[in-house]
Amino acid sequence: MFPEKLQNLIDIIHTFPTIGQKTAEKISFDLLNRTEEELKKISTAIIEIKDIKLCKACFNISENDYCDICLNKNRDSSIICVVSQIKDISNIEKTNKFKGKYHVLHGLIDTLNGITPDKIKIQELIERISKNKDKIREVIFGIDPKIEGESTIIYISKLLKPLNIKMTRFARGLPIGSEIEYADQITLGDSISGRMEL
Ligand SMILES: [Zn+2]
Repeated sequence: MFPEKLQNLIDIIHTFPTIGQKTAEKISFDLLNRTEEELKKISTAIIEIKDIKLCKACFNISENDYCDICLNKNRDSSIICVVSQIKDISNIEKTNKFKGKYHVLHGLIDTLNGITPDKIKIQELIERISKNKDKIREVIFGIDPKIEGESTIIYISKLLKPLNIKMTRFARGLPIGSEIEYADQITLGDSISGRMEL
């Protein structure tokens, strides 16, 4: 129905999360009206994200070997907040309630769907904490209290137990099943301040 080049673009945009057929068409027609200069800017911005890599310490996204949070000397290195995905960091940062460092697992244990502990950054977390055992005084689990979240917390806490480091989790201000991603800043902030020991 559309010229091939336009249809091709619609199909590509349709692969993005939450973008249905109609929205993909809307975006494509919007792009059709842009100047060549604008289109170049958009394609360059897309290509340049290839330069973004994962921080060697915490696995947050970064343009350098280490991310800005890890390199920031004003942040407390003795507290590590473990999160499941990169996006959770920006949500926690918005609350201004956490001044420590992070560790991104890049997933949660979900054995039924083939996500075994070795598929996510658990080993890296244990190594990082073991190496800095004397400097780290608290590990906070900033993980959604869903089934996969619970099993991940239980699995990691068992491995960390011999290290004798205080372990806490966000308070249950978040209704069960809700996600850090959708929590408002005040609820999430309260949940960080009122964290409970495991
Ligand atoms: Zn980092």
